[in-house]
Amino acid sequence: MSGDSAGRVAAGASVADALDAPDIGERIYALAAEIYPICRSIAGPGVRETLDHLQRCVALELHETPTGTSILDWTAPKEWSVRDAFIKNAAGERVIDFRRHNLHVLNYSAPIRAKLPLAELRKNIFTLPEQPDLIPYRTSYYAERWGFCMSHNALMALPEGEYEVLIDSRVEDGALSYGEFVHRGETHEEVLFSTHICHPSLANDNCSGLALLAHLAQRLSGVKTRYTYRFLWAPGTIGAIAWLARNDATAARIKHGLVLSCVGDGGGFTYKRTRGGDAPIDRVMAHVLAAGGRAGNVIDFFPYGYDERQYNSPGYKLDVGLFQRSQFATFPEYHTSGDDLDFIAPTHLAESYRVLAEAIDILERDRRYLNLSPKGEPQLGRRGLYAAIGGDKDAYAKNMAMLWILNLSDGEHSLLDIAERSKTPFSVIAETARLLEWEGLLKPLSR
Ligand code: ZN
Repeated sequence: MSGDSAGRVAAGASVADALDAPDIGERIYALAAEIYPICRSIAGPGVRETLDHLQRCVALELHETPTGTSILDWTAPKEWSVRDAFIKNAAGERVIDFRRHNLHVLNYSAPIRAKLPLAELRKNIFTLPEQPDLIPYRTSYYAERWGFCMSHNALMALPEGEYEVLIDSRVEDGALSYGEFVHRGETHEEVLFSTHICHPSLANDNCSGLALLAHLAQRLSGVKTRYTYRFLWAPGTIGAIAWLARNDATAARIKHGLVLSCVGDGGGFTYKRTRGGDAPIDRVMAHVLAAGGRAGNVIDFFPYGYDERQYNSPGYKLDVGLFQRSQFATFPEYHTSGDDLDFIAPTHLAESYRVLAEAIDILERDRRYLNLSPKGEPQLGRRGLYAAIGGDKDAYAKNMAMLWILNLSDGEHSLLDIAERSKTPFSVIAETARLLEWEGLLKPLSR
């Protein structure tokens, strides 16, 4: 279906196809590349500047919680910003320059201006001796300290002597920001998509997730849906906590959800189940990965990772899983300067987008039907429903889909049940059910 089909989806037609758009991977990549250079942290101008870019794609709302506000067991932090930072050698040359890479400054670093011998300076430098060409990403949100990050090779190349260091940063009162977009559906039941906005120049983790959700929200806004869809672009941990603290009643309406991050690399897919492990979203994601013939690793919940931890906490128990390509902390580029714009690609972003579109399609279209001719098999040939040409593999699959649907449509089994049992992609089952309904052989039941 072409890109301009959004908003004109025929009843029961594929939502995944409606969400499809030409060059979607390239569009997501372009937005990820636009926000990649911005120096973000948990609060400050970097988050707002990023949301500003995303707003050009989708009309998200900016929400702010003033510094010092109590949010659940936490407090909204101060804003952090950096104007300049460097290490200069005796000749006055910048051997480390924040303007070249924002990972060079310890995220949330306190300000410093000093002249130090190398031995002293080293105490405040982080490197990766095992990956000597890469700059690590390090943070210190809740312990006040200053620091630089650099490649181990660059550190080894520094001669003894005195260095001039400057981190012109500010940690000051302001607000914690997050972005939110709501697409209203026919019901108040909600599907949540949430992703973190607090990392600086790391492309996969998480410019990829930020840009993908912006485009998904934009496409979805033109489609009629049953569920209401809520999108959050929020700083990791503290942002999800701020949202939960302000949205107790809304949280109760969330029926399904996904946190996503690291959706642009060539690895994976990875799906981490909800805390209960048997929620509808768990079945949906397992089906999308398996039936789509996608290599996928479905893993059990554990209370570490991204904001699925907050949504699955016992005070909320929301059915929110985590979707990634490569699992966090398992790829060598993770949290290093190696996670750059060459590490992600439009084709990987497009595949991740398609996975989410197919998941939405199942959430929207899954329902139970009743076989209106349940005594024996209805005569399909008389109705022209049996594919005439024997041996056509496609025809065989379509015939089997019809037989499965008719057999299991006793009012107890949903289309997803049938797709799972018959090991047939949900889209094939759903399309075939539409055909059988059209022929008067099936009746949809109220959900
Ligand atoms: Zn991360």
